[in-house]
Amino acid sequence: MHKNQLVFFNTLTRKKEKFNPINPGKIRMYTCGPTVYDYAHIGNFRAFIFEDLVKRWLEYLGFEVFHVMNITDVDDKTIKRSKKQKISFKKFTNFYTKAFFEDLESLNIKLANCYPRATEHIPEMVDLIESLLSKGFAYKSKEKSFYFSIRKFDKYGKLSKIKIDKLKLGKRIKADEYEKDQVQDFVLWKAWVAKDGEVFWETKLGKGRPGWHIECSAMSMKYLGKTFDIHCGGVDNIFPHHENEIAQSEAATGQKFVNYWLHNEHLLVEGCKMSKKMGNYYTLRDLIKKDIDPKAIRLLLLSTHYRAQLNFTFEGLESASRAIERLRNFLRRLQETDGQSCNKEIEKKIEIVKKDFCDALNDDLNVSVMLAVLFDFIREINNLLDENLIRREDAEKIIDVMKGFDSVLGIIGDLDKCSLPKEAEILIKEREEARKNKNWSKSDKIRKKLKNMGIILEDTPHGIRWYLKKS
Ligand code: AMP
Ligand code: ZN
Repeated sequence: MHKNQLVFFNTLTRKKEKFNPINPGKIRMYTCGPTVYDYAHIGNFRAFIFEDLVKRWLEYLGFEVFHVMNITDVDDKTIKRSKKQKISFKKFTNFYTKAFFEDLESLNIKLANCYPRATEHIPEMVDLIESLLSKGFAYKSKEKSFYFSIRKFDKYGKLSKIKIDKLKLGKRIKADEYEKDQVQDFVLWKAWVAKDGEVFWETKLGKGRPGWHIECSAMSMKYLGKTFDIHCGGVDNIFPHHENEIAQSEAATGQKFVNYWLHNEHLLVEGCKMSKKMGNYYTLRDLIKKDIDPKAIRLLLLSTHYRAQLNFTFEGLESASRAIERLRNFLRRLQETDGQSCNKEIEKKIEIVKKDFCDALNDDLNVSVMLAVLFDFIREINNLLDENLIRREDAEKIIDVMKGFDSVLGIIGDLDKCSLPKEAEILIKEREEARKNKNWSKSDKIRKKLKNMGIILEDTPHGIRWYLKKS
């Protein structure tokens, strides 16, 4: 289904490119996972939801996707934070790993095929570093750490387009994260120092722990091979993390590491990147505590094109919440309609909406166009529903199309939630009875009771209509 028209913007070439998988039967995709030193914030979830969209879209098009997401359970931040909180390292990272999986479920993010943990892949990392040493791309420093020599890898900078500053050649950086003005030899293996405490491995490279970047090279290539199709992450990962992943992997294998690099822009708060460092963040749990529907958070994070920055506001969340209400009410109406007339245009309308939906997402996941297509369609069909012009069998076809769309969006979920609770059905019947008997005060009381249950009634020429509305 329109598989051949899929186009992605590739950070490597800074161009939109037609997507040509290595093996059309199975796409191999790697996404950088969370560093489990705290609850992930909703900026992180913008990245994970974007990646979920990439995968769901490929699946909608009929591709099979093998998706790997790592868990960074050892790095500078996990060690520092667990020490500060005086919790054993393993217990600390396990706690936040578990929380991460709970959050994935709340946000209806599909699970990857595999979640390798860094701490369970130390031998693979050591092997990779040894291979870099034997090929002359790595060296040991006086303090017994190992570094990657960027001047030995002449393609260094091909992803971030960074220029190597000749003055800084030979200088080294040991931190996992650093800025562009610190283009320097980066660490592969950190020799143990007292502040690492209980966190170390005794290996052929000596006592120590891996650097952050080598984790992703070793784990992605273990599960996906030397060359794979797609690698995603936020734009902050382009440099140094992904640049370094390319350097380590391609220097070791002599082969191209990844064909398509996809990066999402940041979620901002008042113009600044949402981040732990700035303290301007909300975790998913912060928002759920405020009684915000996680599906609205999901839609908000999805609804701006992934390559555009998105400013987080509560008004934005409110309008995402209203859009979901509209979708649910639409499906509920379709579930109930039993129009008599036959509308010959329906088949045609379905074909058009499916094509437009597909064209929009095939164009580098253009969600803004896709959502406009979707809500125009809903408006058109709602007008026909108002006129009682949708037959049962047509409604079923539309519901099927909507289910297909939701397999990509993941914002409606269980269709049963769109229908009326039994208790409310009884109340509506009682109210109709009261109205027939002109018992207006009883009818009003029931209307108020339903309103408190989040159900709004509307009396129309075709009978009573109801909407689900969050109070
Ligand atoms: P981390 O746990 O810090 O390694 O981040 C996990 C993912 O979230 C990475 O792909 C980051 O690039 C991404 N990320 C971090 N902050 C933001 C943000 N404010 N907006 C969008 N993505 C982000
Ligand atoms: Zn990574």
